[in-house]
Amino acid sequence: MNNFTFRNQNGLQFLVCDPMEKIGFINAFSTRMGGVSPLPAESLSLGNFSQDERENVIENRRRFLEAIGAMGRQLVTARQIHSADVRSIRDGHDATAEPTECDALTANIDSALLAVQTADCLPVLLADRRTGAFAAVHAGWRGTLAGIVARTVERMQLSYDTAPVDLLVALGPAIGACCFEVGPEVISQFIDRYKYTGQLVSKQKPDGKAHLDLNLANTRQLADCGVNPENIFDCGLCTVCRNDLFFSYRFERGAQNPVGRLMGVIGQIAKNS
Ligand SMILES: [Zn+2]
Repeated sequence: MNNFTFRNQNGLQFLVCDPMEKIGFINAFSTRMGGVSPLPAESLSLGNFSQDERENVIENRRRFLEAIGAMGRQLVTARQIHSADVRSIRDGHDATAEPTECDALTANIDSALLAVQTADCLPVLLADRRTGAFAAVHAGWRGTLAGIVARTVERMQLSYDTAPVDLLVALGPAIGACCFEVGPEVISQFIDRYKYTGQLVSKQKPDGKAHLDLNLANTRQLADCGVNPENIFDCGLCTVCRNDLFFSYRFERGAQNPVGRLMGVIGQIAKNS
């Protein structure tokens, strides 16, 4: 929790990465209470899915943007598919277009607030202190395996001339290594791709199941891209251990029950506000 603070506004609570705010980026990770979705009552579910009314999500998003001081910003979301695909939001036209299938969004315009929706997967926010470019990334195990944060840094280098050494990165609430058990087929794919997989795995069982550390895996990928490890801030909050604060697809049995969606957002603090 170093470098993060909980803030309360209009009955909502959200988490802010302070160093990222200090260099000029509005950022927030939502918590579950204070909305209008029945997941259960008064849940602040911020993602569209079939088991919640669209009107609820619209009202929840309005409340969230108001609480974090981002009313009037264009909220840009993705149709997340556990890929390693990155979309650049170049202008206001891109920002208002229908969400497309991808798992990372990047931009360098002050009208857009980029969003990632999660309920266990790791939300990653990136901010370039020199150019003002920023990104929001959805990194579950599939995206992590496919190197989505590395792909995002590469895109920022190409599109905005970002130097990785100028990036600040915030890792939001996600299922922690304490709780994230995966099967041997997942571990073996990581071993095939990342030689340091042994460091990411713990609590191995005789049947091959083990716990995977998504936060460390993404931290490692970012460091290998040239991001300074001192500039990678991990809130360290687990969505299962802290199910009182966050939605967890696994803990709440998402395959059988409707589970709400958290949101992590990032944008530029307007120069003249
Ligand atoms: Zn946990």
